[in-house]
Amino acid sequence: MNTPNTLKRVLMGPGPSDVDPRVLEALSRPTIGHLDPAFLDVLNEIRELLQYTFQTRNEMTFAVSGTGSAGMETCVVNLIEPGDSMLVCVNGVFGKRMADVAERCGADTSTIEIDWGKAFAPEQIADALEKKPAKVVGIVHAETSTGVCQPLEEISRIVHDNGALLLVDAVTSLGGMNVDVDGWQIDACYSGTQKCLSCPPGLAPVTFSDAALGVIENRKVKVQSWYLDVSMIRRYWSSERLYHHTAPVNMNYALLEALKLVTEEGLEQRWARHVTNHKILKAGLSAIGIEYVPEPGYELPMLNAVFIPAGADDVTVRKQLLNEFNIEIGGGLGAFKGKAWRIGLMGTASTLSNVMLFLSALEKCLTDRRVKFEQGASIAAAIEQAGVK
Ligand SMILES: *Cc1c(COP(=O)(O)O)cnc(C)c1O
Repeated sequence: MNTPNTLKRVLMGPGPSDVDPRVLEALSRPTIGHLDPAFLDVLNEIRELLQYTFQTRNEMTFAVSGTGSAGMETCVVNLIEPGDSMLVCVNGVFGKRMADVAERCGADTSTIEIDWGKAFAPEQIADALEKKPAKVVGIVHAETSTGVCQPLEEISRIVHDNGALLLVDAVTSLGGMNVDVDGWQIDACYSGTQKCLSCPPGLAPVTFSDAALGVIENRKVKVQSWYLDVSMIRRYWSSERLYHHTAPVNMNYALLEALKLVTEEGLEQRWARHVTNHKILKAGLSAIGIEYVPEPGYELPMLNAVFIPAGADDVTVRKQLLNEFNIEIGGGLGAFKGKAWRIGLMGTASTLSNVMLFLSALEKCLTDRRVKFEQGASIAAAIEQAGVK
């Protein structure tokens, strides 16, 4: 049996995604001091490229030492003081998690819940805020548990008309689709390195608007988390470079390299690549009768949540994909456990060759499970969608 550090998988699950060799090379560079002027240049460059990727001028844009959930916790714990009201929109696992974090931070937490697989309509947020005003409204842009894309522009207007701050989970969307922090007036936004940025897990890019920073500066009580206190972390990321905690030096090398790949490709080209490969996969899956979980028009390009066809046992098929083809896809979470698969086409993994590989491997697995479908139909449809050259 191979040890995990020599296995090479094709990572088509909900994250981590395939990591570009350039990023892996960056990880292995010599570790230097976290206060070394050369490392401080790395941090400055990360901030600049994160501002590009988040499409923001926010000065307070940096990478939290921790995974996406640490980004979530950073945003909530800094904006919320005990007793502050927070509204969390829940239509999947990660909205639920945000509500849990809000409660733990002492927020007077309210939630609006809708069916998993659906996106929120702006009126639903307006109604909830009318019933009970909130200081912060939290919402997930790309709900990885259901594959649903949540439009944000109109909701942002409503949130601000109600005097609240908008907090957005962009863990899965950043680097794979449009996340327009300034254009959409998002006040606090967090992401993770291992989804569409295609870096190993370990850092959480975050950004705070001036309005959010103002709220943080005017807090009456200290941030409950010492580690995630932005007022202290900002003194390390600012020109002061005051020691707070030891930055994970090599992870920052990796993130910088991953962000360079984003910049070199260009945001719009990168989003377009995700859409193109999603459409090809979707054409292939549809041709063999596999349906998407999200309501039509709200499917995420980087995370394809689909219903498992009758007769194809969830675990057996995923095991075969992994053992026979080295392909990892995700199972369903929460309400979709055993009912859905989550096929990621994130960052580096969003390629035509991964789509074609996956469709042919899936056809083999479904054939072995005696699932009835027209053999070869997914490949033919994918080829047609890709366009014959
Ligand atoms: C993955 C994910 C998270 C959590 O990130 P971790 O890196 O696992 O801590 C949060 N929100 C969304 C939407 C995610 O997809």
